Amino acid sequence: MAEQALNLINGVWKRAASGETLTSMNPADIDESVATAPSSSAKDVDEAVAAARAAWLAWRATPAPKRGEILFRAAERLAREKESLAVVVTREMGKVLPEARGDVQEAIDMTYYMAGEGRRLSGETVPSELPDKDAKSVRVPLGVCAQITPWNFPVAIPSWKIVPALIAGNTVVLKPSAVTPLCATRFVQILHEAGLPPGVLNLVHGHGEEIGEALVSHAGVAVVSFTGSSAVGERIEALCGRLHRAVCTETGGKNPLIVMDDADLDLAIEGALWGGFGTSGQRCTAASRVIVHHAVYDAFTARFVEAAKKLRVGPGLEPATDVGPVINAAQKQKVLDYIEIGKKEGAKLLCGGRAATAGKLANGHFIAPTVFGDVASTMRIAQEEIFGPVVSVIKARDLAHAIEIANGVAYGLSAAIYSRDVNKTAVAERDLDTGIVYINASTIGAEIQLPFGGTKRTGLGPREAGGRGGALDLYTKWKVIYRDYSGKLQKAQIQE
Ligand code: NAD
Repeated sequence: MAEQALNLINGVWKRAASGETLTSMNPADIDESVATAPSSSAKDVDEAVAAARAAWLAWRATPAPKRGEILFRAAERLAREKESLAVVVTREMGKVLPEARGDVQEAIDMTYYMAGEGRRLSGETVPSELPDKDAKSVRVPLGVCAQITPWNFPVAIPSWKIVPALIAGNTVVLKPSAVTPLCATRFVQILHEAGLPPGVLNLVHGHGEEIGEALVSHAGVAVVSFTGSSAVGERIEALCGRLHRAVCTETGGKNPLIVMDDADLDLAIEGALWGGFGTSGQRCTAASRVIVHHAVYDAFTARFVEAAKKLRVGPGLEPATDVGPVINAAQKQKVLDYIEIGKKEGAKLLCGGRAATAGKLANGHFIAPTVFGDVASTMRIAQEEIFGPVVSVIKARDLAHAIEIANGVAYGLSAAIYSRDVNKTAVAERDLDTGIVYINASTIGAEIQLPFGGTKRTGLGPREAGGRGGALDLYTKWKVIYRDYSGKLQKAQIQE
């Protein structure tokens, strides 16, 4: 029996004004509908933005440590309900249960972390060049934040956006992916019930093409944060540019994992499997390109392929499963199309290369873990984001060549290098043109206390998550305050 997700507007759970609905499905079982949710229109967006605007001034005036206490309570409840939320993530999004727990854990970590920011949110106090005058900078919130999220981290990504915006004193309208409405609803419900005043956090479900642009370009919105595909992200960047609106986009990746000739091959193989096939390759940080030094190319590739063949494909709720389904029929077709493109381009299909349909798998969107060898770095499968369980193995002459291949794509989110030579890893650390570099660890596994984001087509604007340069830079602007208590006119730069 499908559950019912609703919009949250001004503290009230409600249907779309039109009464229209959409349905989310279990990717592991096409007969199971997981939830129905409102299919909203611009009218619902208007109502949500109006509620968020009306709530803003009182929320901004609430002391940040008090805002933090509400977030802390939400984090406590999230931790208590982690397991049930993780099951919802697996049912609605498909990832295997341990990874679904990780998705929720990331939201727990982020919510605790940002709750603590309520007592930091620090600016600077610096000396003035004039006597009896002080000078400081403070962070101030911007207003209503429009936030648009994808399906692949259906709890974690909404948390990355909502909680930093709230702690900084903004109000929020979230439009989550239409594919995972229940996950977003559960998360928003926990935040709401922790004590957020009505209108501070609003949730509007619906299709991106129908309400996404209405939200992004709404006159009442001050800042836009988007995570999703590059195509949509770039439209939003252009729209915000025209509107002179603060924006952050986090979009695609084509992340390289370099294996040098002195690498611990066992470790590198484990890392490539985890990075390539974890979340069925549907992570923005997935290791979709493995770049291997020619001296170990044959040994690495043979063992990597053997290990990939052993991965067990199945429903994410089954404990034996290593690789769950992809999100839906359209994504499955897209991945299968890329496999055909790879074959036509002359890459060597080493395993997988087809839908996995044995037994009950026929009822879901499963794809056998796929490895292509002899991939040229110019091929489309080595350049374009596939977002599925497909890994391209590329041969490199040496470190410089490996880095050149790694950097030779339009994206720059995450990169990894496996090597036991500290000098080589230092060069890679310096020269890889990505937002995140892992050394002797896979391309996935970012932690929330440091900024998250990438270079080039991977995104625009301040990074997400914590640390210097993280999400607080998106959700606040600096205000500088000079106070002159000399009782006379003092002229900066002119006073003797
Ligand atoms: P998507 O771009 O199709 O959708 C993302 C969100 O945008 C959804 O909520 C969707 O409804 C909405 N949307 C669609 N069209 C819109 C429009 N015209 N205007 C406004 N909103 C619109 O992406 P997806 O398929 O949900 O997610 C997969 C993509 O997300 C991949 O490309 C992946 O790399 C990317 N991603 C990036 C990061 C990162 O941090 N870099 C993290 C996770 C996922």
